[in-house]
Amino acid sequence: MTTFVRFWGTRGSIPTPGHKTRKYGGNTSCVEVRIDDALFICDGGTGLRELGVDLLARSSSSVEAHMFFSHTHWDHIQGFPFFMPAYATENSLYVYGVTKDDNRVHRLLLGQMRSEYFPVKFSDLGSKIVSSDLGGGAKSIEGVMVRHYEQTHPGRSFAFSFEKNGVKVVYATDNEIDMTVLNADDILEHPEALRRVPEEFVRFVGDADLLIADGQYTDEEYPAKLGWGHARASTVVDLAVQARVKQCAIFHHDPMHSDHDMDEKIARCRARAERAGSNVVVFGAREGLEIKLD
Ligand SMILES: [Zn+2]
Ligand SMILES: [Zn+2]
Repeated sequence: MTTFVRFWGTRGSIPTPGHKTRKYGGNTSCVEVRIDDALFICDGGTGLRELGVDLLARSSSSVEAHMFFSHTHWDHIQGFPFFMPAYATENSLYVYGVTKDDNRVHRLLLGQMRSEYFPVKFSDLGSKIVSSDLGGGAKSIEGVMVRHYEQTHPGRSFAFSFEKNGVKVVYATDNEIDMTVLNADDILEHPEALRRVPEEFVRFVGDADLLIADGQYTDEEYPAKLGWGHARASTVVDLAVQARVKQCAIFHHDPMHSDHDMDEKIARCRARAERAGSNVVVFGAREGLEIKLD
């Protein structure tokens, strides 16, 4: 029994290639979650292109992937037209919505391949691209229990959790949890106080072996970005502490953040977790990093 998580794209908003982002990477959101023989793909940002190349190189058998999109903002779908497994007839891609018969993601992936935007038609892709859904609740997919949670983000976004044999991975990006903090008044007086996140979300994330969460902003940046749909990295740490998470990957890095800025942000996050008396392992998600959980 094994669970592997690999980061293929960790950047938020727009790809940021270049020498300043070499360590954490410049591709936008894409995370591979492999649980035994089941392949789950979280988001299809530009990182999805390289995952596709790797999947084809890895094995000569057909690709079957369960694809979960947090939402359809550009940085989460732009890699899809460049996902090579989508072009071969032997492959099957299941694209999930959250409620019954919800084919919104499937429809919008098709929309971004209209001839005004892209030269190849969705209908010419070749692979079986099947619209599926979680039926509004939890669903067992190849023996993995998958759950969803609606987050705080303009235009809606969803977090997903994947659980099998007591190992749990939560993917929660594009989520302004700062908007939902319960003790906001308290924090004005005591900025270092633990920011309390709603119990329902704490339960959703609860005891995760790995939480991957949007921590785009520093405390200093956030006031100018209120309502943009992203969280302070420090608030993600507080969520991880409350939910007794074992490892917490700060994700969806701001395009303005260099590797140096990121190192500083992560150091501050670690200090915050330590002050809270937690032994959660906090790190910055970086492209190419693979983690084995068991
Ligand atoms: Zn995003
Ligand atoms: Zn978004």
